[in-house]
Amino acid sequence: MYQAPTLSEYVVSRLITLVILTTTIFALIVYFTPDEYRTTFFYVVLFFVSQLIFLIAVRYRTQYLSKELKKVEHMIINASGNHEDKPLEFFTIEFASIHKKLVGILKKIKKREQEKRKYNAKIKLKNRQRTDMLSAIAHEFRNPIAAILGYSQTLTEDDEIPKELQDKFLKKIYNNGEKIEELLSRLLLWNRFESGEQKLHLTQLNLKPLTHEIALNLQEKYKNRHVAIEGVASLVKADKALMEIVLKNLIENALKYSDEVVRVQFVDNTIKVIDEGIGISEENIGKVTKKFFRTDEHSWENSMGLGLAIVKQILKLHNSSLEIDSEENKGSVFSFTLEPQPLERH
Ligand code: ADP
Repeated sequence: MYQAPTLSEYVVSRLITLVILTTTIFALIVYFTPDEYRTTFFYVVLFFVSQLIFLIAVRYRTQYLSKELKKVEHMIINASGNHEDKPLEFFTIEFASIHKKLVGILKKIKKREQEKRKYNAKIKLKNRQRTDMLSAIAHEFRNPIAAILGYSQTLTEDDEIPKELQDKFLKKIYNNGEKIEELLSRLLLWNRFESGEQKLHLTQLNLKPLTHEIALNLQEKYKNRHVAIEGVASLVKADKALMEIVLKNLIENALKYSDEVVRVQFVDNTIKVIDEGIGISEENIGKVTKKFFRTDEHSWENSMGLGLAIVKQILKLHNSSLEIDSEENKGSVFSFTLEPQPLERH
């Protein structure tokens, strides 16, 4: 295999070749020149010609070196180009090695640039999400706050409001205050998930009594609605406070988005929340667990679209996932399976 010479090897070898060549040519010229022409002038001319040839040869050879330098220069100027497609060939080891090192440095720079670009894109996305979040929060809080302000202003300005109406307004103020309180706790919970602060406190748990408790509380808000709790629940390993949030969200959604009875079914360690409500279109099934997603963007009654995103995070912490089976205008089934805590059954 051809091994490129070093710069000094290259220069010395070229000079030796030149000296040998010119000496031979001139020796032959002197040898074949008749005696009468071999004057001092002849030798002077010969000497100058040899000097000239030598200079031309050196100049010619240095052009090679400048070509090598130009290649390196070109490579630096086109630093963003791809250096793997067309490997450059060099005449001398030094230039080949400079080139190799430069390519290495350029690759590193490129990689760092790519990482920087990715990082910047991530920050941009985070900032956009933060802005979206702030505007969603502002929207969410605006309605209950406006209601509280409106009712309280009416109550303070008008002394003649009948007692019955006064009670009604006060109840509205109280309900809207509660709504704000719930929004805040959801936000704080979401923030704990986002920052990775939320920890699991696993205990042996029977979700059936917990579901009865949640259903009872919800029935205060959703009067005339029924939550049927069916099946046999296995003991599972889960965080009670977080499971309460999961069940409350799923059951409340089922109540919110349907008019008929809502069923919670326990089959061993799988829990299903079933409704016969508006259902979710195929297009939206994949989106409903995304934060701030709501099918009806303008319905502020529906809170922030954080509920299912929180449910998904909680189930992920429990090594589980939320399965959604839904058909528009037919209803939905939200289900998940938890790790069993064997032996006992309730
Ligand atoms: P929200 O608090 O707005 O209900 P969620 O994250 O709980 O937010 O739900 C996101 C969206 O998923 C809702 O706006 C609704 O469109 C849809 N959704 C959730 N549960 C149901 C359900 N049981 N039936 C139909 N649609 C639902």
